[in-house]
Amino acid sequence: MTELPNGAAAVIDLAAFRRNVESLVATAAPSEVMLAVKANAYGHGMLPISLAALEAGATSLGVLEVGAGLELREAGITVPLFAWLHGTGTDFRAAAENRIDLGVSAVWQLEAIAESGASVPARVHLKIDTGLSRNGASAEDWPELVETALHLESQGFLEVYGAWSHLADASVADDEIALAKFVVAVEVATSLGARFSTLHLAASSAGIRMPEARFDFVRFGIAAFGISPFDDVDAQGLGLEAPMALTAPVLSLHGLPAGPFHLGDVAVDLDEPATLALVAVGYGDGVQSPAIGRAEVLLGGERRRIVALGVDRMLVDADDLEVAVGDRAVVFGSAERGEPTAEEWAAHADSIGDEIVASITPRVPRVYVG
Ligand SMILES: *Cc1c(COP(=O)(O)O)cnc(C)c1O
Repeated sequence: MTELPNGAAAVIDLAAFRRNVESLVATAAPSEVMLAVKANAYGHGMLPISLAALEAGATSLGVLEVGAGLELREAGITVPLFAWLHGTGTDFRAAAENRIDLGVSAVWQLEAIAESGASVPARVHLKIDTGLSRNGASAEDWPELVETALHLESQGFLEVYGAWSHLADASVADDEIALAKFVVAVEVATSLGARFSTLHLAASSAGIRMPEARFDFVRFGIAAFGISPFDDVDAQGLGLEAPMALTAPVLSLHGLPAGPFHLGDVAVDLDEPATLALVAVGYGDGVQSPAIGRAEVLLGGERRRIVALGVDRMLVDADDLEVAVGDRAVVFGSAERGEPTAEEWAAHADSIGDEIVASITPRVPRVYVG
């Protein structure tokens, strides 16, 4: 057994994660897999997850920001890295010199790349907006983006390497329209003289369900973390496992009469006598307060309701439960083990699974197994 800390811990099963990636690699083949490790790999820890993803067959990593890419380079990771969210302070010189590919959606970014003073040309992937409107050049601005990039390429500042976009995943019909826009944009760029070495469009959703959107590689994120990108099938139905389990020990047990009860910032008003377990995890650790009232934990082998949530602790119904101080409750984890899932929490909190796992705060130690 892995030794767990006295308080809350996020136990991350790297073997389960690798199985997910292997399965997605098989799904996407012959397209390759880029693993998106943004938001500290959705709270799972960027470096261990990156290493596990590469071991399981991913061939590149998507890092959102250049700074995260530099961290991976410093840790010795040599595979292609792709960063696509840039601010005015982004260090494009360091990106170019550390071979971090840049997603580019605006002319100002191309100019900043050209002016960065890097000793080598930056590799850029031009982004067309296919409907998400979350950046990416509009069809109107696309020719100017392409022409500026080709001009700066001819001057040796950059290499026009890829074209890409991101799907909104609103519906299959929307994604089909976006795919058609993407194909047209690539044709327009080609007619302007661009020769792309790589094209990429799909994230988890289209990567699984829309083979024609896979192109050279799929940028898988949330599916690799055992969360379904679909409403009509859960992760288990897709053969994916949740690598992260959020667990915390029982601190004390309280046999209480009906009436109000409070312990610091956790308070309940009991209709009838009850036994409650105080568990060492709260919203300060990232547990979602909107889910309270519906959400459950696994405690003493049973699903039990959370009756109150504080910053560091929660009260859990422990009536007639075989449980002792020090036993661990699982807030969310693996469906295979009967634990509540991040997807269930998302439904209770009117949120998405990505947010449930990515919200677990840095103070919760990540413990790696497998
Ligand atoms: C987050 C993100 C991904 C991964 O998306 P999932 O839906 O989590 O698979 C891929 N590409 C880009 C540009 C992203 O921002």
